[in-house]
Amino acid sequence: MSIPSNNTIISTQPSCNDIYESGLLPVEQALKHILSALPCLADYETLNIEQTKGRTLSQIIKAPFNVPPHNNSAVDGYALNSTDLPDKDVALLSVTGTAYAGKPCCSSINPGECIRIMTGAVIPSGTDTVIMQEHVKLDNSTITIDSRHQKGQNIRLAGEDIQQGESILFPGKFITPADIGLMASLGISEIKIQRKLRVAIASTGNEVISIGDTHSPSTIYDSNRYSLYAALQRPDIEIINLGILEDSPEALLDSFKQASQTADMIISSGGVSVGDADHTKTALQQSGHVDFWKIAIKPGRPLAFGHIDNSVFFGLPGNPVAVMVSFYQFVLPALEHMMGIKDKVCAPKIQVKTIENIRKKPGRTEVVRGILQQKSEGTWTVKTTGKQGSGILRSMSLANAFIILEHDRCSVKAGELVTVQPFSGLF
Ligand code: AMP
Ligand code: MG
Repeated sequence: MSIPSNNTIISTQPSCNDIYESGLLPVEQALKHILSALPCLADYETLNIEQTKGRTLSQIIKAPFNVPPHNNSAVDGYALNSTDLPDKDVALLSVTGTAYAGKPCCSSINPGECIRIMTGAVIPSGTDTVIMQEHVKLDNSTITIDSRHQKGQNIRLAGEDIQQGESILFPGKFITPADIGLMASLGISEIKIQRKLRVAIASTGNEVISIGDTHSPSTIYDSNRYSLYAALQRPDIEIINLGILEDSPEALLDSFKQASQTADMIISSGGVSVGDADHTKTALQQSGHVDFWKIAIKPGRPLAFGHIDNSVFFGLPGNPVAVMVSFYQFVLPALEHMMGIKDKVCAPKIQVKTIENIRKKPGRTEVVRGILQQKSEGTWTVKTTGKQGSGILRSMSLANAFIILEHDRCSVKAGELVTVQPFSGLF
């Protein structure tokens, strides 16, 4: 597959007069190129089901038996044969035994008799209908029933939930608590799941220092590695921390080459622009598989993507908000694609009214940090977090959603619908 260089010209048809620089790669196209160039993990491991929440299934799960395994009562009441149901008026039946869940009733019944039954108890032989206890009149050991009941009511039939041999979960299923409960209900204890993805992270920049190092007027503390580390902390990822790399082609190449021996993906931040200290490009030119794109997105315009040996490489911009936006818009979908997750939407995008005017020119996607809030009558609205500079990390911290203003969109007026991606589906 060929990956476009930063010279790729993609035509757009902006609807307003004023547009941004041409030759930028639209977001959708960048994501399409990324996803089509990724390998999928084929390795799996076998784990107990309790350890598999948030992992991806890599086998078909079939039901070894019917669920429920036998006909049982859906309510507390009385089991009887439907031939004893009265067509009109009432019928009197004598109670001859009791069936509990886990303790069936062995006695059989004759015409005019019934069995007291609890929810979940196996339906006694000779009975085919259960009457709720609230619908009968009990007098000593005789019940009176009226004519409003039907044959077969209040019985959960064997196999009505799952049939023996039925395939119920498939490879690519992102495992949820419900899936774990479902497998437990079938007596399945161990399953095959995708192995963890190994992701290496690095910060670059001679000005960037670690927490604990002495601060000076020319240094900044590394925040990118921390936000990336936190964003990657999930059950299906193993993080390899490469630390802070100095701004030199040799240091970067050394570290990336070494990481590529073990990592499935390497993510760096900084050094992908065109400044004199932006050495990631020089470092990776020899590898021949990394392209440097200018994406039509704000924030997060420069992005490097490709391969170093067997590792997928993402060179994210240096600015802290740009790092997080590029991570959620490009890296997260790539990670989930590599893990073979087929049935989990990265995050739902919804349409919500903005209560604020937002300035925007067509020609690039703008990912604005927003606050989604519910009004007292229940409807949802969104507003921005205020200043939107790509270095203002507080805008991410204040936000609970991205407002995504699409490529061709112009300025938005208060009251218009905008696309919103809540963080709750992402983080
Ligand atoms: P660069 O793309 O390397 O020129 O970085 C762009 C901006 O992001 C500069 O102001 C950097 O100081 C800042 N920056 C780069 N890396 C980090 C980091 N790890 N943490 C916080 N800020 C950073
Ligand atoms: Mg830098």
